[in-house]
Amino acid sequence: MPEHRLDLAPAVTIPPHLVGQVQSKLAYVDELIASADVAESGDRITLALHAAAGARAAEIEEKVQRVVREMAQGSIAPKVEILEDHLARPTSYSADPLDELLARGEVYEESTGIFTFGPLMSRLIAYFESRFLELAAHFDAQPYRFPTLMSAKFLDRVDYFRAFPHSLTFATHLREDLDIINQFAETAKYEGKGLNSPAEFFSQVEAMLSPAVCYHLYFSLADHPLPNGQLVATAVGTCFRYESNNLTSLERLWNFTMREVIFVGSKDFVLEHREQSRQFMHRIFEELGLAYQVETANDPFFVGEFRKQAAFQNAFQLKYEIRARLPFKESTLAIGSYNYHQDFFGRHLGITLPDGKPIHTGCTAFGLERVAHAFLAQHGLDPARWPAAVREALS
Ligand code: AMP
Ligand code: ZN
Repeated sequence: MPEHRLDLAPAVTIPPHLVGQVQSKLAYVDELIASADVAESGDRITLALHAAAGARAAEIEEKVQRVVREMAQGSIAPKVEILEDHLARPTSYSADPLDELLARGEVYEESTGIFTFGPLMSRLIAYFESRFLELAAHFDAQPYRFPTLMSAKFLDRVDYFRAFPHSLTFATHLREDLDIINQFAETAKYEGKGLNSPAEFFSQVEAMLSPAVCYHLYFSLADHPLPNGQLVATAVGTCFRYESNNLTSLERLWNFTMREVIFVGSKDFVLEHREQSRQFMHRIFEELGLAYQVETANDPFFVGEFRKQAAFQNAFQLKYEIRARLPFKESTLAIGSYNYHQDFFGRHLGITLPDGKPIHTGCTAFGLERVAHAFLAQHGLDPARWPAAVREALS
């Protein structure tokens, strides 16, 4: 139970474009922080702490100020380009659908950020996915199935640990040792916030839980020239991003599902397919009656990498986000993205074009739980009030 507040004046005023980014990073600053709030004016930070910080208050403040300085000092607001604006599309619901979903037993929170979905959400997600598969069919995308575990060796090769260390989820197992396994079997208990077993019982980490889908395709193509020099693939996969205290609703899950359409080839091939994706989805989102906009964005890099990498992504328009309106909180939520990675994976993984140059990659990714959540936030749980295409498909 958070009982104590710590009010801080940030070392530098946090500019408006960074308020959300800094706030979400503060969750990772110290285990005592239960929640963090950065005032919209950027000149005040309020921390709710799990216990009186006492002697640790100064240390926590120093860490918070380090995050603020590293992310905000000298930061220049990116030029956000809006490619589509359909935010004014009419919607008929204005409550948080989670309350009603929980009350009806349609959603169950098994643990923080881990949700079970009942028939309504499951049918909606299956329907939305069928619409995303129309995009895959349009490109004659080849189907793939990827594992949930992802090789730590490959993630290292693509520098993932530098970019997103905070959101990783590790897979481990008991070490192959009779005494350890017996001791675990006899003593293991869930106590407080987790298992009571000591860290030395567990193996070194060889695998992580996948943070994204398309990486698996690139790993499978590593160290070879790409036959024919181009490929369009599609896959759905379970993804994991540990979002700490930010895991408070259906908006941010630890365990979620992504459907991706993946493009591998020359620069022009990838950029043209990304743009065609956006234009194709325009019609589908209209039929779904979704109020949204598409705008330039950046990935949530961790503190040390944030400023440089985010600016780079923005400058080269590497990421467009599809942001759906959440009427109940007058904000928007990313339900998908159109991404271009340049030749990053080609270079790091040794995947080449017929001319020997590194391949380029890109992907269109949809967060399925978020699409369903945003749809219900805009149109409510009563099918009679849904846009015709959805109502008819599900009746
Ligand atoms: P990204 O690769 O970060 O652009 O993610 C693609 C999509 O996955 C996002 O637009 C979201 O819809 C979804 N997504 C990403 N992180 C989460 C999360 N923690 N919980 C639920 N959905 C997520
Ligand atoms: Zn991807």
